[in-house]
Amino acid sequence: MTEDINRQFKPLIQDQGLPELKKWMADHGEPAYRAGQVFSWVHGKQVTSFDAMTNLSKSLRAKLAKDYDAAPLAMVQRQVSETDGTNKFLYRLRDGQCIETVFMPYHHGNSVCVSSQAGCSMGCTFCASTIGGKVRDLMRGEILAQVYETQRLTGEPVSNAVIMGTGEPLDNTEEVIGFIRLLADPYGQNMSMRNITLSTCGIVPGIYRLAEEKMPITLALSLHAPTQEKREKLMPIARRYHLDEVMRACDDYREATGRRETFEYALVAGVNDTDEDVRELAQLLKGRSAHVNLIPVNPVRTSKARRPERGHVLEFQKKLEKSGINGTIRREMGADIDGACGQLRRRQGV
Ligand code: SF4
Repeated sequence: MTEDINRQFKPLIQDQGLPELKKWMADHGEPAYRAGQVFSWVHGKQVTSFDAMTNLSKSLRAKLAKDYDAAPLAMVQRQVSETDGTNKFLYRLRDGQCIETVFMPYHHGNSVCVSSQAGCSMGCTFCASTIGGKVRDLMRGEILAQVYETQRLTGEPVSNAVIMGTGEPLDNTEEVIGFIRLLADPYGQNMSMRNITLSTCGIVPGIYRLAEEKMPITLALSLHAPTQEKREKLMPIARRYHLDEVMRACDDYREATGRRETFEYALVAGVNDTDEDVRELAQLLKGRSAHVNLIPVNPVRTSKARRPERGHVLEFQKKLEKSGINGTIRREMGADIDGACGQLRRRQGV
């Protein structure tokens, strides 16, 4: 499917790093320093038209426009939360696919949650993003453009990014790695890698591949259940990668990068929120100086998954802490707008 878009459209200028731009300049008889100028327009000033690149000659701009597209996406819908300022965007890509991006204002810096695929094939039972399956992987420029465009539309600088929107990032690993490297480029957005979090449902080869890059980003494992048996019921991917293997890969990631991973735990009433679950979770994470993010699950129309009562969530957290495991309850952002990831996209019928 990604091949289709490559056939239908010109490459995106946002997909290009400095080496690619330098090669293009050399192939077109242009001096190498022009590559730096273009890079700075695209990733620094984040323009989406070649006409805006005013320090380039008209003929060079025309040559670039012949070979590349500069506008990866356009906004279709925007919802703004009245309670906490969260903005949810629906963007349309060049081939008509729609993706969601969320802007979350925090005191410590604004954060953006990006999608890495259009749809998702992982099939987690409590997730709206997977309902229609995966349509295609996003290219690095399409993931970057979510950050750039969200920043432009809100008029607010973004200092943190979470790759936790629609899609499994480690099912699109090379594009996601390319995205992170460009996002952290000092001549581009210059985001600190320490402020970037990648969330995976546990694709073991992808975790090892990410560890090889030795980027100091945070890995968040969507754990959601403390045993193999329970995990299989919530997440079909668990049948492919056993929990023991996933935990070993996370340990390897921590050793390779020096970064402590976090564990995401979506609480589903009566499914993974019992005292037994607390005990098993504490047992699993013992000795890992782990941090658990507890997320009361969002209701999804097609799923029976219900969130536990607020009091029960607090109890779960307390018991976990008593067992020596750090746990925080994720603050719910944008509760008054289309809450769960994937729902805005579904509501648009895409
Ligand atoms: S939770 Fe993430 S990995 Fe699972 S189906 Fe949803 S988007 Fe895909």
